[in-house]
Amino acid sequence: MSSAARSGLIACEECGRVWPRDQAEGHRCARCGAALHRRRPNSLARTTALLVAAAILLLPANILPILRTTMTGRVKEDTILSGIQHFFAQGQVAVALLVLVASFVVPGIKIIGLSWMLLSVRFRWDWRLRDRTALYRLIEFVGRWSMVDVFMISILAGLVRLSALATIEVGPGAPWFAAVVVLTMLATRSFDPRLMWDVREAKS
Ligand SMILES: [Zn+2]
Repeated sequence: MSSAARSGLIACEECGRVWPRDQAEGHRCARCGAALHRRRPNSLARTTALLVAAAILLLPANILPILRTTMTGRVKEDTILSGIQHFFAQGQVAVALLVLVASFVVPGIKIIGLSWMLLSVRFRWDWRLRDRTALYRLIEFVGRWSMVDVFMISILAGLVRLSALATIEVGPGAPWFAAVVVLTMLATRSFDPRLMWDVREAKS
């Protein structure tokens, strides 16, 4: 079994061209111009910092109102959670589930999944490597559609607008929620899944 790193090579992450490590580390790929690294630099520290920040910002994102509805002079503020309850109570189960998945399930899977991967590298666990790599691929794939979460808020606003003569404003929780989405995206990009496989190679 041989990896590029073990063979003294660096594979370009963008175009796949393989270069000798001693000449390539820290340089740019002469074929496509991408930065060449044996592994993404400071992957563990960066990913940890971004994940911790994302987890902390989940608090204001969920405690502060995400929508402010003014209807016939009365102001109603909704957090993500109370918005979901509201939709369930009104029998709009599909919308409620959509918001639940976009605002809790997806960020939850990202934060818990990446934390598990970080711990596995730090503590040198080499079990369920294929599953963990598959989970990383899933998180990366979902990450590309992450702005869907933010669009959800605007869809919500649109739905409420249809249902009543109301003024909808985005509440102070929304920028925090957007920040959580961006931070988890950056965390996913800074994690290098090859580090998980390095643990097994180091053991063999
Ligand atoms: Zn390249």
